[in-house]
Amino acid sequence: MRVLGLETSCDDTAAAVVTSDGSILAETNLHQHKVHEKHGGIVPLLAADRHLQKIPLVVRETLEKAELRMEDIDAVAVTRGPGLPASLVVGLAAGKTLAAVHAKPLIGVHHMEAHALMARMGAEQKVRFPYLCLLISGGHTLSLVVHDVNHHSVIGQTRDESVGVAFDRVAREMGLPWIDAQVGGGAGAALEQIARDGNAARFPMPMPMNQSNTARDPGFSFSGIMSHVARMREQRAFDPTCRQDQADLAAAFQQTATTHLQKKTALALAHAANVLNTRVTCLVVSGGVASNQAVRQCLSILARRNHLPLICPPPRLCTDNGVMIAWAGIERLRRGMLDPYDIDFIQRWPLDQLKPYAPRESS
Ligand code: ATP
Ligand code: FE
Repeated sequence: MRVLGLETSCDDTAAAVVTSDGSILAETNLHQHKVHEKHGGIVPLLAADRHLQKIPLVVRETLEKAELRMEDIDAVAVTRGPGLPASLVVGLAAGKTLAAVHAKPLIGVHHMEAHALMARMGAEQKVRFPYLCLLISGGHTLSLVVHDVNHHSVIGQTRDESVGVAFDRVAREMGLPWIDAQVGGGAGAALEQIARDGNAARFPMPMPMNQSNTARDPGFSFSGIMSHVARMREQRAFDPTCRQDQADLAAAFQQTATTHLQKKTALALAHAANVLNTRVTCLVVSGGVASNQAVRQCLSILARRNHLPLICPPPRLCTDNGVMIAWAGIERLRRGMLDPYDIDFIQRWPLDQLKPYAPRESS
């Protein structure tokens, strides 16, 4: 089976063709960094406008690279939500039209479920249900048990900002560019790079949710560290033009954020075992922040302590891409989970609103 996947939920116009054995036949990902850079953040209408301009060419280029025509595709998968409405609409209209015109099955994909299922792609199927997944991205920070496709138990989520936003905001306070051409990624990637030369002990930071009433809560919080760094900047506790200050601050922030993720994931593992009575097969970490090596390192220690394998998709498949949508499409197609051609986008779509899949009785 070959599925064409389209992703336009935020600021990447992406498409890919993936097979049911997990081979990527082609992928295209057009970032919009340049469009938003001068605004210091994503401007939703500009993002939608860019998707509108680029999606036809991105789809065509992907099919050309795969040396396939629409006739050779078994289904079209497209991100249905959550995300920016104007951006989602563009991809969804493209996907629905392609599917309807070519009489192909249509599969509406939950963007966060696609991040969570990404780790299962591959012929050897290393990742088996149920597993504990830490989803750390620009819009979300959550831990969940993935029981199956469409069946998730969310354990912890952020009370305020996502860890990706925290990386981006702290990088900005430190004077790092929103997009670093040399690092080739967002501010979070630039922060990781500079933290390598830093001394984390120089700027100690408060550990979030470490009080007696929050220490056992598997939720996350990043607003405290963000305002701590903002206050440091106001009080001129560091010089944003001094490279060593930037490096030390980056290392301190990264260490605090990473340790917080580790502590709360440890609680999520305990919750899965003791409250949900679920023996997970492994720990999966996905979403843009999962491309951070310090985060991977810290969570690999936790996984080892719990005798679980740690599985992270390769960095380029942790951030938004078309491959994860095509793969989530394969997972759904295998189970016969198809959608009508008139589905709409869903802007806010909590993962645990998805209903466990019950195969239809054959008559
Ligand atoms: P969501 O999936 O929640 O809708 P999104 O799709 O915008 O959000 P992703 O593309 O999964 O988010 O991830 C983007 C985030 O990942 C950004 O906040 C970016 O700074 C962060 N990020 C990317 N690379 C790194 C890195 N190496 N270290 C830390 N953060 C990183
Ligand atoms: Fe994402």
